[in-house]
Amino acid sequence: MRVSTENNKTVTKAGKIKAIKGMNDILPPHSAQWEWLEDKVRQLMARFAYQNIRTPILENTGLFIRGLGEVTDIVEKEMYSFEDRLNGEQLTLRPESTAGVVRAVVEHTMLYEGGKRLYYMGPMFRHERPQRGRYRQFHQIGAEALGFPGAEVDAELILLADALWKELGLTNVRLELNSLGQPEERKAHRAALITYFEAHADQLDEDASRRLHSNPLRILDTKNPAMKDLVEAAPRLLDFLGEASLAHLHTVQSILDAAGVAWQINPRLVRGMDYYNLTVFEFITEQLGSQGTICGGGRYDGLIEQIGGKPAPAVGWALGVERVLELLKEQGAAPSPVAPDVYAILPSASVLPAAFRVLQPLRAQGTSVQMHTPTQAGEGMGSMKSQFKKADASGARYALIFGEDEVSRGCVTVKSLRDGQGQQQEYAMAQVSEWAAILKSTP
Ligand code: ATP
Ligand code: MG
Repeated sequence: MRVSTENNKTVTKAGKIKAIKGMNDILPPHSAQWEWLEDKVRQLMARFAYQNIRTPILENTGLFIRGLGEVTDIVEKEMYSFEDRLNGEQLTLRPESTAGVVRAVVEHTMLYEGGKRLYYMGPMFRHERPQRGRYRQFHQIGAEALGFPGAEVDAELILLADALWKELGLTNVRLELNSLGQPEERKAHRAALITYFEAHADQLDEDASRRLHSNPLRILDTKNPAMKDLVEAAPRLLDFLGEASLAHLHTVQSILDAAGVAWQINPRLVRGMDYYNLTVFEFITEQLGSQGTICGGGRYDGLIEQIGGKPAPAVGWALGVERVLELLKEQGAAPSPVAPDVYAILPSASVLPAAFRVLQPLRAQGTSVQMHTPTQAGEGMGSMKSQFKKADASGARYALIFGEDEVSRGCVTVKSLRDGQGQQQEYAMAQVSEWAAILKSTP
């Protein structure tokens, strides 16, 4: 295939190809924090009995238009959409995962036997202005409970997120709650909103004027500080809710109270997608500047039917991985990079077979081993001095020295790299794995 590189911002003058703006490489050692977070999430999801689901990154564009709503930031201006050159189909890189999960649940009749608790992790794509905490490829971890109508499931999901913050050691995360009620209740509120905003038409920005009649609720979701006061004084949806909606909200609140999780009502919290009803919530921090929402979610009882399934209730949330990791860093709670247990020093290539024979079982046993490997062809293994320097830099606790002498006697030398005295001791090769087992059990 011929590809023109003209007007292509990812190709530099020198002809190097760079990553696309707003799409980041995640490199070591930082990538270890991603793995650490993902491990914690997997363990926690298992404890709440949520099962993993993996859906494609590309979906039919119609899924998002139907699922998210036409008059939303995402559908109006943030989607990466293109035509499949081969069959003309309109495709979109997923901007979020709920619509895809619901599509999969419907397609595979997963609710046939009752409700499902699911979670996912992965990249999402939105064409936004890149800045701290806002990227074009970013990552979400999300949890969805489908087929359960009760407020206790809303509460369970909120408690799941709260448990994750605790598991990660995050503090200063605030929970905001609101209820979007039911479509009927929103209709009355919508009329009141339009009357109110029409009376202040001169204060509306471009987005808001455009949405005044198509989706006035969305105006409450504005990020424009100039409209803050106006939005603050707008009619509150909470005042339009009937008994059943209020009771649902109160049940969520009382479970959170019983569990000792603090919450605040934010009557202007409406969330960015059209599919929400009843409970909506966000976890917010003040420590990340204006990109302070680390997790958001709510109930979306209408979406499954909207996407062509048999009507069924659902509720879920998604968190932004980059923002959570940034907050961990901000709070000094991010784990330090993991160093290998052992660095293998190899004075000459002749000891390689013996080294592999010893190191393979060590690794099988769970010891992490970095083997010294020269980077220049034809220059041998390098001096012992330079190998020890690399061993120190690796952060390993011990060096395993495969000296020719020792190896010929069936032995290796273990040298401590961290006790300051460089204590060393010789072991028969057959005993190294016993030594490693003891090493694993001592911090
Ligand atoms: P925002 O109001 O910040 O644009 P949103 O309402 O569009 O967020 P959601 O669609 O609810 O966000 O996504 C859930 C979470 O994913 C957000 O709370 C945030 O942590 C994260 N997130 C959303 N968009 C981005 C992005 N462009 N870059 C990084 N993280 C993001
Ligand atoms: Mg957004």
